[in-house]
Amino acid sequence: MSDSFRALVIEDHDGKQQASFKNLTIADLPDEDVLVEVSYSTLNYKDGLAVSGKGIARRLPMVGGIDLAGTVLESASGNFKPGDKVIVNGYGLSELYWGGYSQKQKLKSEWLIKLPDAFTMQEAMAIGTAGYTSMLCVLALEKAGITREKGEVLVTGAAVGVGSVAIALLSKLGYRVIASSGRAETHEYLKKLGASDVISREETMGKGRPFDKERWAGAVDCVGSKILASVIAQINYGGAVAACGLAGGNDLPTSVLPFILRGVSLLGVDSVMAPREKREEAWARLAVDLDKSLFDDMTVLEPMSNLPALAEQIIKGQIRGRVVIDVNA
Ligand code: NDP
Repeated sequence: MSDSFRALVIEDHDGKQQASFKNLTIADLPDEDVLVEVSYSTLNYKDGLAVSGKGIARRLPMVGGIDLAGTVLESASGNFKPGDKVIVNGYGLSELYWGGYSQKQKLKSEWLIKLPDAFTMQEAMAIGTAGYTSMLCVLALEKAGITREKGEVLVTGAAVGVGSVAIALLSKLGYRVIASSGRAETHEYLKKLGASDVISREETMGKGRPFDKERWAGAVDCVGSKILASVIAQINYGGAVAACGLAGGNDLPTSVLPFILRGVSLLGVDSVMAPREKREEAWARLAVDLDKSLFDDMTVLEPMSNLPALAEQIIKGQIRGRVVIDVNA
């Protein structure tokens, strides 16, 4: 059918979630107030889980893709008109609401942000949820008073989306950034992004004690669990950690000592339900503080048809940097 378009749909198959490509029509889309022609989406860890059927979708059938960039085709909202270029990050896409792995999508107008002038749609998706989360982490550290004069800032789980962009942002802002990565082959890449030095996961763990030698003014943690506990234990007096990830586990085996003896702050960062003002602040700062010349090194463009294989790779930790998905290829 000529008015049909392609989407990656997650459905129930004998009690298991399974993703496959389907042809949909506008009538199949949710009843939301803005119809968008999607150009690009991205691949984040959460997308990897969704596409490989690991139970992220809380309603079925579900269209995956937590990010999208596209052009408004129809709008029942006074805030958007046909032709507007827009982006969406998070808001429960791919969990509760249909997301960006579709050539067309209907979305709530409250979720849409106008594409910042500084970026093309492809560039905005190179940043995507991962990059915008990195900016939220940087803003959280700034608000906690972690200036570059205070000392070195550590970024853990450094070689993928959130970590890569955090390194690029912090180094452009003049911080001395140390990257923690478990993959030796990524060290050169991380230095190119602006890391002054790269340390292994083992070195990041230090002595693995809940209260260790002071080492970092601040940190962006993408890993959680023992790594985050070790990082908290090594934060300088009055320092802070922006915690956004759980790649190493969702537990946190720590003690209150760093908090009550060193005044360390643990700053929770959530991108999914972040209020509009925070999103707009983050995107405005990305336009100023992200060196776009790094995009080429940091990003690969992949056709939507490769998503099933890419999902497996990101779950296995085999992806480096950011993956932009061309939903029309
Ligand atoms: P990934 O989740 O794909 O990977 C993060 C990195 O963490 C890995 O590449 C690896 O880095 C490291 N890592 C993985 N497993 C372990 C382990 N067992 N022990 C130690 N390190 C490990 O990267 P993303 O950048 O896409 O996402 C980072 C995290 O942030 C994820 O947990 C994601 O869910 C979360 N996130 C949270 C958001 C929020 O709103 N709070 C928004 C976006 C992402 P290396 O190989 O370099 O060591």
